[in-house]
Amino acid sequence: MALGSLPSEALEDLRGRFAGNLVGPADPAYEEERKVHNGAIDRRPALVAVCRGTADVVDALAFAREHGLPISVRGGGHNVAGRAVLDDGLVIDLSRMKGIHVDPEGRVARAEAGLTWKEFNRETQLFGLATTGGVVSSTGIAGLTLGGGLGYLMGKYGLAVDNLVSAEVVLADGRVVTADEENEPDLFWGLRGGGGNFGIVTSFEYRLHPVSTVTGGLMAHPIDDAGELLRFYRDLCETLPDEVVAFGALVHAPDGSGTKLGAIALCDLRPPGTDDTVVETVRGFGSPVVDALQPMPYETVNTLMDPAYPKGASNYWKTSMVSELSDQALDTLVECFSEAPSPMDAILLEHFHGEVSRVPVDATAYPHRKDGFNFGAVSEWLDPKLSDRCVAWARGTYSAMESYLSPERYVNYLEDDAPPEALTGAYGPNLDRLRAVKAIYDPENVFRSNQNIEPAPA
Ligand SMILES: Cc1cc2nc3c(=O)[nH]c(=O)nc-3n(C[C@H](O)[C@H](O)[C@H](O)COP(=O)(O)OP(=O)(O)OC[C@H]3O[C@@H](n4cnc5c(N)ncnc54)[C@H](O)[C@@H]3O)c2cc1C
Repeated sequence: MALGSLPSEALEDLRGRFAGNLVGPADPAYEEERKVHNGAIDRRPALVAVCRGTADVVDALAFAREHGLPISVRGGGHNVAGRAVLDDGLVIDLSRMKGIHVDPEGRVARAEAGLTWKEFNRETQLFGLATTGGVVSSTGIAGLTLGGGLGYLMGKYGLAVDNLVSAEVVLADGRVVTADEENEPDLFWGLRGGGGNFGIVTSFEYRLHPVSTVTGGLMAHPIDDAGELLRFYRDLCETLPDEVVAFGALVHAPDGSGTKLGAIALCDLRPPGTDDTVVETVRGFGSPVVDALQPMPYETVNTLMDPAYPKGASNYWKTSMVSELSDQALDTLVECFSEAPSPMDAILLEHFHGEVSRVPVDATAYPHRKDGFNFGAVSEWLDPKLSDRCVAWARGTYSAMESYLSPERYVNYLEDDAPPEALTGAYGPNLDRLRAVKAIYDPENVFRSNQNIEPAPA
């Protein structure tokens, strides 16, 4: 529906009580407001409701429902599939809702849904506290948490969802509820991994942990050593204590030269000097060309990858959990990477172990609870002429790896054109309960601009 076809009195009425901004196609801010992190997403909403508080969210939702406008919900706008924006509908944009209160005694933080992890970490680190969040600091806390939320703290403290204490939610019928273990327990279960399927979360309450100076960063090696490096990384992961989370990667040098490198990035939460065995082992491998592993504040380690993911670059990712990380699989990765067309392309391996794998599969909606690796063919480019080749490369790399992959997929990494069976891969044994919870809280599927869980039939 075009904005012009909405009754102007209704729009003026909404504008009169709205604390934030209502931005339509004729407004100068429109071009900026419709952008998301992924520059390949080009959608034209009828209206963007830039909310300032829960009442704005309630009013925007009611307006959309009254006038038959489909809606999308935007937190940090980082999702690669770009479902935070939609054509001809209303975007309920929470990205300016950035309030946060940290209770250092109770070790909890109540955070509004528009915060990024950089903004969140800055406040909690004032008190030497943190919770599991994303490894690129511009990512929104909202979408990341609702899909699961993996990061450097997950070995010791579990995923972001495992640290969620409660959430304030605007439901499809406009009611505002608080969901936690005691109140609305089915909703609380579904929110912890089920994406934005059940309502609009206006704020999250997280459990915090003492984390301050860590050892983090990366070691990079010549691409000729990448096969050996990935084998070393795989074997190293078998030995890691909960406090250390490590990622293996094939990347390009950040100078734009196109130089290909193999790398291990890690974060050791133990205060430097407590036990540096892991760091020494990683440093002892091969002949690194970059040694950037050192003590640093936790909030810094989460910014190290930011320059590799600038806002507006185009992205196309294909990811899955790995069933078998054999030598052959690793050789396939190295071979595929040699064909990467963009100097920003990467292949990532994210390792899961420790607390994240101890939580029972049915304890939260997020189901991937065993030790192992997530694989990602991450294509990223600035030159629009590279689009077709980059998408083809990510798909081709995924196909080449398919026999080593499990059907399990992380919902927050699913591509825009993911096939329907991807949802089964994302939720596995929890999908039936998610559909039942959806039928209770959103039977008309108002919240469908996401990786959509259809309500179970009545
Ligand atoms: C460069 C980069 C790095 C990443 N790193 C990590 C990482 O380290 N760990 C990890 O787990 N994931 C990571 N991700 C994936 C990330 O978790 C998802 O992209 C996530 O959706 C981002 O959240 P957002 O709020 O920024 O996204 P948005 O695009 O704003 O939202 C994504 C979807 O979530 C839903 N949603 C958002 N806010 C709300 C809300 N308040 N209420 C209800 N529904 C809502 C909507 O359906 C929306 O379409 C990364 C992504 C990128 C692009």
